[in-house]
Amino acid sequence: MLIVSEEVCQEVIGRADAFTAVEQVFAAMSRGDAYNFPVIREAIGHADALYGFKSGFDRAGLALGVKSGGFWPGNMAKGLTNHQSTVFLFDPDTGMLSALVGGNYLTAVRTAASSSVSIAHLARKDAKVLGMVGAGHQSQFQLRAAAEQRDFERVVAWNPHPDMLPKLGAVAAELGLPFEAVTQQELGAQADVIITITSAFEPLLMRDWIKPGTHIACMGTDTKGKQEVDPAILAAATVFTDEIAQSVSIGEAQHAIANGTLKEGDITPIGHVINGDHPGRTSDEEITLFDGTGVGLQDLAVASAAARLAKEQGKAQEVTL
Ligand code: NAD
Repeated sequence: MLIVSEEVCQEVIGRADAFTAVEQVFAAMSRGDAYNFPVIREAIGHADALYGFKSGFDRAGLALGVKSGGFWPGNMAKGLTNHQSTVFLFDPDTGMLSALVGGNYLTAVRTAASSSVSIAHLARKDAKVLGMVGAGHQSQFQLRAAAEQRDFERVVAWNPHPDMLPKLGAVAAELGLPFEAVTQQELGAQADVIITITSAFEPLLMRDWIKPGTHIACMGTDTKGKQEVDPAILAAATVFTDEIAQSVSIGEAQHAIANGTLKEGDITPIGHVINGDHPGRTSDEEITLFDGTGVGLQDLAVASAAARLAKEQGKAQEVTL
């Protein structure tokens, strides 16, 4: 079996590889060729940690495995990342462990690839202003990936903790994009594409602040109780997601579903758009919203690509169990 370290993952997987892997697995999910198994997530009663598994099988990409890990809030004080994950890949023909792949960097690039796939397929082609809500670890990956999807001319940003914004501004500067910290209302009025990537438990953007034609990728809400936008935005928008079961239970749609303004049948898997079975955006005035909840198959897709590329480039460690 192969061991692919965090460092090697960064060397072999770029944004384009992650985009292709995630787009292909969303398409496979829509065709019924790939499915996620039920997610396990538990508070383990030690170190305040949340620990769990995300797993699935992609028959088209032949990716079988599990991402295991979670959130250890005390890690930062130890100089470690709070979110920790490792991907285990198995040979679908034999069940033997085929690779052990570091999952921290891959989680960030696959999450950024997810919103990017939504922007590529759903945002207006003439989108010029990118709005960022959130300025934490994931936001920098999100900004880099989104910037490649349209000819953005500038970035406007808001974060509940304004002191975190300069780091995101530095990424925009690196990309040659003017960056401005604005109010939430200004962000809604100016942005053609908005990414939300926070740990919020209450709406940060209200319906009246969003202009017609906006594409919103809600990426932070991945747990019951979390929330980033006004449910009225989902009621007004055409809503897409990675996986409907997660969208209605742990995704941004959970709140509009709970208050009855959105029905499960109103939500379309983005794979349908990728496969050409749904038209996606149908007018310049339509608000489109992607509820990116994060599925295990995304992790398996990028980890499989990392294992393949690391082997091809002689960068994987081979061991016998
Ligand atoms: P981080 O800790 O580096 O940053 C947290 C961000 O949320 C910052 O912008 C911070 O200002 C903001 N924030 C913190 N507490 C808040 C609160 N109570 N209300 C509003 N905003 C608050 O985290 P990160 O690694 O950048 O992750 C951001 C979010 O993305 C998390 O909620 C994480 O669970 C989620 N996430 C989702 C996926 C997915 O696939 N959808 C994948 C990875 C992470």
